[in-house]
Amino acid sequence: MDYQKIINKIHQSINPFLGIGKPANYIAPLSNVDPKKFGISLMTCKGEVFKIGDSEEKFSIQSISKVFALTIALRKYGSKIWTRVGREPSGSSFNSLIQLEYENGIPRNPFINAGAIVISDILLDSMKKPKQEFLDFLRNICDNPNIDYNYEIAQAEKETGFRNIAMANFMKSYNNIHNDIDEVLDFYFHQCSIMMSCKDLCRAFLYLSNYGIDPINKNIIITKRQAKKINSLMLTCGLYNEVGNFAYRVGLPGKSGVGGGIIAVLPNELVISVWSPLLNANGNSFAGIKALDLFTTMTGKSIF
Ligand code: GLU
Repeated sequence: MDYQKIINKIHQSINPFLGIGKPANYIAPLSNVDPKKFGISLMTCKGEVFKIGDSEEKFSIQSISKVFALTIALRKYGSKIWTRVGREPSGSSFNSLIQLEYENGIPRNPFINAGAIVISDILLDSMKKPKQEFLDFLRNICDNPNIDYNYEIAQAEKETGFRNIAMANFMKSYNNIHNDIDEVLDFYFHQCSIMMSCKDLCRAFLYLSNYGIDPINKNIIITKRQAKKINSLMLTCGLYNEVGNFAYRVGLPGKSGVGGGIIAVLPNELVISVWSPLLNANGNSFAGIKALDLFTTMTGKSIF
């Protein structure tokens, strides 16, 4: 299949959609990103790379970092984490507080904010230098020593993250946060601020397209069963409360972030990542979803 030709065509067709949507302006630095940015990167399990547009420009990966946090937590603790966080779609927005009270402070899944805050708390228990260890893990899996936090974004999130602060306190009242709340949130906000390009994301996610093993250097990142579980969670919980629409239109496990990035995995074949900063009402990249819809429509490739 000529992936370069396909993504070139997607790039052309997506142009009229690039002004639609709004940036995540509740995080101040994200509202200054050029709204017309658009990039796609695709990497196969054989290591072939295809790219178009702004695919090598770094952006704030935001909630996509939740997949890396879950991966590290599963490596360290295995299925023990599931007493603290659920595995069901939330059917509400990424920063919703409503379910937490009904469900005794146990977040629905690790890919909404409350769930990722609990995962951050779990990780703090076993990490001496959490921010450094998180970065080391990422630099290693994406083979890029230049991956880093964006401290301005992390600080902006701290200053305006009232809902996240509320959630952490609320979950602490149910004893589902064990460490100091400021430390947990500091770690969580830094994870969201990580800057990566579409190309970096593809490289980093390759293990999920290859049963937990990095197909390039053969490093075992997680077990085959854990890779299945993470992909399943991305399929059912990876796009906030638009996960049904994404599965319907795209048919791949994916994870989005309010920085406008989306990553999608086709097990045993490839990963594809798209970036366009303007978001739809669900907080997902408007043009990003359109581009991935075009990709699976044009190639006929999906998990179904
Ligand atoms: N840092 C963002 C927040 O906590 C993450 C949102 C997202 O990408 O879903 O609100």
